[in-house]
Parts: sequence; structure tokens; C-alpha cells
Amino acid sequence: RSLAASLHEIVKLLESVCAEHEDELGRLDAVAGDGDHGQGMVLGSRGAVEAGREALNRGAGARTLLVHAGTAWAESAGGTSGALWGSALTAAGRALSDDASADAAAGVEALLNAVEAVQRLGGAKLGDKTMVDAAAPFAAELQARFEGGADLPSALTSAAGVATRAAAETAELRARLGRSRVLGDKSLGTPDPGATSFALLMEALAEHLK
Ligand code: ADP
Ligand code: MG
Ligand code: MG
Repeated sequence: RSLAASLHEIVKLLESVCAEHEDELGRLDAVAGDGDHGQGMVLGSRGAVEAGREALNRGAGARTLLVHAGTAWAESAGGTSGALWGSALTAAGRALSDDASADAAAGVEALLNAVEAVQRLGGAKLGDKTMVDAAAPFAAELQARFEGGADLPSALTSAAGVATRAAAETAELRARLGRSRVLGDKSLGTPDPGATSFALLMEALAEHLK
């Protein structure tokens, strides 16, 4: 199977995890935000799957597939997290090429690029109570483990665990960015929805690549 087809399977996996957790993510976002995070993630990932399928049918390679999937995610989701996830997929695609088959190092590069794109576009800092609070420690762990000699599946498993713990720890933070900043204090005690969905998706990805 081509790398593009394998990546399409991953986009489909992300969609199924978003659908599975739609209600839970909506409830988290309703505490101090507008309650649409689950819906946004479902609409965005579904749009990405459709665009990915069309790209595959046209014979797209890995890079084109992810760039199109990311564009569609942002357009289909609306909302802050949709723009961020869209740019993440597009940035991951730009780390790959259309013809070569990617190795583990390219996979790590794609993931690190994706997290960098989220940080650049959103401008959130650690402690702002956003998905960056899960994504940044995830990226640091992934890079450290991989450079330390771990293979991609084990580096990713370790990084996903870090993301899950970091997402849970956002419960202790007050939101300072995004819609929920207005009700920042209300978010105390509840984990950030975007950090939570990030961790759920990376756990699923790690499991998939084992
Ligand atoms: P919206 O806030 O537009 O309704 P969502 O509810 O889908 O969008 O997403 C909310 C999530 O987006 C937050 O929980 C947070 O993790 C993430 N988020 C918001 N602003 C930023 C930002 N500037 N950088 C990174 N993540 C952000
Ligand atoms: Mg929202
Ligand atoms: Mg919204």
C-alpha cells in the first residue's frame, strides 16, 4: 500500500476518534467556551476524510493528500481548533514528498512540523490553557525519544502518554486565550477541550502505528 493510502487510513482513524468523543468534547467546551468543540472536530475530520478520498482517487501522493485534507479540515470545521488542525495536517504534508516513501524520521519530522504550525498560527504560550499545553510537551518527548534511539511507534507511545497527562493537568489552569478566556475562571477544574482532543488523537495514532 502507498504512503498516501496509509495516511488516508490515519485521517479516517482521526475522524472515528473525533466521532466517538464528540459529546464528551462538547461538554468540556461548554464549561467555559461555546460547547462546539466536539462538533467542530467531527466536521473538520469528516471534511478531511472526504478531501483525502478525492485526492487518493486522483492519484495524489502523501504530501498532496495531507495538504488537501488539512485545507478541508479548516474549511469544514470553522472555529479556532479547525483552523489549527487544518494547518497541522497541511504542515505535516509539507514535511513529506509526493513520490518518495517516507521513513520514520520523516514521520517524526511531519509530526513536529504539525505542532510547530499550531504554535505559530495560534500564538499560544505554555500555560494559556490550549491544545499547545498538550502538543508542545508531546513534540518535545517525541523528538527526545526518537533522537535517543527509540523507533517511531515507541517514541510516539511515550509522547502520547505525555500528552494525555499534560492535557489532564490543564484542569489546573485558567483559560487566557480563545473564546473561553472571557469565562477563564469557570474553566478551573476542567481540562482544556483542545488539549484533551489532541491527546485522544495522538493516543489513537500511537496505538495504530504499533
Ligand atoms: P472555538 O473556540 O472557535 O469554538 P473549538 O471549540 O473547536 O473552537 O476549539 C477550542 C479549543 O481551541 C480550545 O480548547 C483550545 O485548545 C484551542 N485554542 C483556542 N485558541 C487557541 C490558540 N490561540 N492556540 C492554540 N489552541 C487554541
Ligand atoms: Mg468552542
Ligand atoms: Mg465555536
